[in-house]
Amino acid sequence: MGLHVGVFRQENRPDCRTVFPLLFILRFDVQTGKGWFTDIRHWVEMGSLRPLKKSYSNDVIKTNYHTHNDLCDGQGSILEYIETAVAKDFTALGFSSHAPLPLANEWTLSDEKLPIYLAEVDRQKERWANRIQIYKGLEIDYIPGSQTPGDERWKALNLDFIVGSVHTTTGLDENPSYFCVDGPEDEFQALIHEIHGGSFENLSEVYFQRVAELAGLGGFSFLGHFDLIKKRNRDEAYFSEKEPWYHRHVLRALDAVEGSGIIMEVNSGAISRGALDVVYPSPWILAEAKKRNIPVMVNADAHRPQDIDCHFDESRELLRDVGYSEIWALLDGDWTALPI
Ligand SMILES: [Zn+2]
Ligand SMILES: [Zn+2]
Repeated sequence: MGLHVGVFRQENRPDCRTVFPLLFILRFDVQTGKGWFTDIRHWVEMGSLRPLKKSYSNDVIKTNYHTHNDLCDGQGSILEYIETAVAKDFTALGFSSHAPLPLANEWTLSDEKLPIYLAEVDRQKERWANRIQIYKGLEIDYIPGSQTPGDERWKALNLDFIVGSVHTTTGLDENPSYFCVDGPEDEFQALIHEIHGGSFENLSEVYFQRVAELAGLGGFSFLGHFDLIKKRNRDEAYFSEKEPWYHRHVLRALDAVEGSGIIMEVNSGAISRGALDVVYPSPWILAEAKKRNIPVMVNADAHRPQDIDCHFDESRELLRDVGYSEIWALLDGDWTALPI
């Protein structure tokens, strides 16, 4: 059984707050700070206590807010992802197609498909309202000089949330072909050799510098796949995460995230796609994030309907192992901390 925590306002005593953790009931007077235990269950039943915040139990809440579909680079329709989420007893599912880029490409929504995507999520949100909470988001690239997740263009779309992500270390002006750090092997090779002089250290420095800048700019709900540059580094093919320079780059970016208050996701996308056996970010980075009290959430970065909860139990366990006791989720339109 999960821990239920509710905060209630007493109708006839507006000066009091009551915290209600399952059977143990602690009340305290907000003016004197004095606390005492009492039984408020009958007041709840009688309706004289109303929840200030809906209470949730971690073992019944299933959510994912990083979901692609066949309008960008995913497989399966928006409806198929929702049907899978309902079958898996999800409480909420957030869609986050890749926002259009100012260049032709194979993996983001096009400008023409963007309104189709938004309308379809809206339509399904309404249709499924009694079964599951559906949220409308976008995963938006930060490309210095070209676009940021906080741009006015996105604000006009009435989104429920935005994933802020870095997928490249190039700028569109200097490299119109846009090499992704998580692209196919030949694209990754081209990125390292043509843009970074064959130096992974240089790639790492520029990548994490961008992540830090993105955190500083804000304008989004959570940060996508913090250490995406390791995607092609299976079996340390390019570098060891123990390198002092890698630690330096990572920690500098984490410090920027700490200062921003932005939520960081644990993302199982490399596992479901067979690229790696570990989540983003690596466990040692999550331990460093905990030291900085950076809020976290668990997401799939699903590109197939069956992957919407990939590795979730393990991700929660990993978070507990490094000291986290709560994860964040968008529920009933509010960002809410759930115990894990
Ligand atoms: Zn991404
Ligand atoms: Zn994604």
